[in-house]
Amino acid sequence: MLTGIHFLLSYKCDSECDHCFLYSSPQAKGTFTLDQIKIVFDELVKIGTIECVYFEGGEPFLFYPLMHESIRIANAMGFRTGVVTNAYWATSQGDAELWLKPLEELGVSDISISDDGFHHENKETSPAKHALNAARKLGMSYGSIGIDKPTVEEGIDKEQAKGKPVIGGGVMFRGRAVEKLLEGLPRRPWTEFTECPYEDLENPKRVHLDAYGNIHLCQGLSMGNIWDAPLSKIVTQYDADSHPICGPLVNGGPANLVRKYDIKHEDKYVDACHLCYLVRLALIDRFPQYLTPRLVYGLS
Ligand code: SF4
Repeated sequence: MLTGIHFLLSYKCDSECDHCFLYSSPQAKGTFTLDQIKIVFDELVKIGTIECVYFEGGEPFLFYPLMHESIRIANAMGFRTGVVTNAYWATSQGDAELWLKPLEELGVSDISISDDGFHHENKETSPAKHALNAARKLGMSYGSIGIDKPTVEEGIDKEQAKGKPVIGGGVMFRGRAVEKLLEGLPRRPWTEFTECPYEDLENPKRVHLDAYGNIHLCQGLSMGNIWDAPLSKIVTQYDADSHPICGPLVNGGPANLVRKYDIKHEDKYVDACHLCYLVRLALIDRFPQYLTPRLVYGLS
């Protein structure tokens, strides 16, 4: 049952982080129009199970008026709302309050702030700290997101065979992270990756929407396009087994995707997402409707 919709308001961002699985950057362009957002909201009502709407990017605060008005409408429609930001705008705590106060007045339910070394060199005096302090002072509900450079640790929990290396830091090995952050990390045989560890592709609880119309089940893995058919219809008719990428993933993970399409591959990969992402990249011209947009794969 789909309960959450996350708008990727834009792929544009003031930063270009090594770990970004969307390849967001200052060069990326485009956002929704307000009328497009309203069309989506009408579709959310038709779906009937949506409870919360998030605004992310890229960096959604680059489109502040649109984000603000969208949150206002969503709240008025009875949805819980949230935003995810890197807090680039929080140049001091006082200024951060200026940016956050209008959102607090709207009653935004959650603000998630990236607070890590990828986004901010000095964590103690970073914009993220200003934003977190401002949110606390305004009485807003907030949280921080911390992702660190990959580290190698020994597996200790029972999910991991004891002594096997575990990669810490929380980086998802998709998008730019595959290009930038793999060096020196331990790898495992591709045949071990027999399930998708993070997404419920059969019964997704939340999806991301971008301004090109793509409904992302995972970054760059599309359920369909909302500018081609109504969102409510695509969601209602979605069947993972008949989706050419999700079907194999549900029935045997990235390793099954390799076998299904007989993809040339290496012997070892860092994790399931690393293998999945590269197999999808190899299939992008065969399934352009489902593996999109190309910029999420670092392609033009
Ligand atoms: S990259 Fe593939 S394996 Fe990883 S979460 Fe996404 S769909 Fe699942």
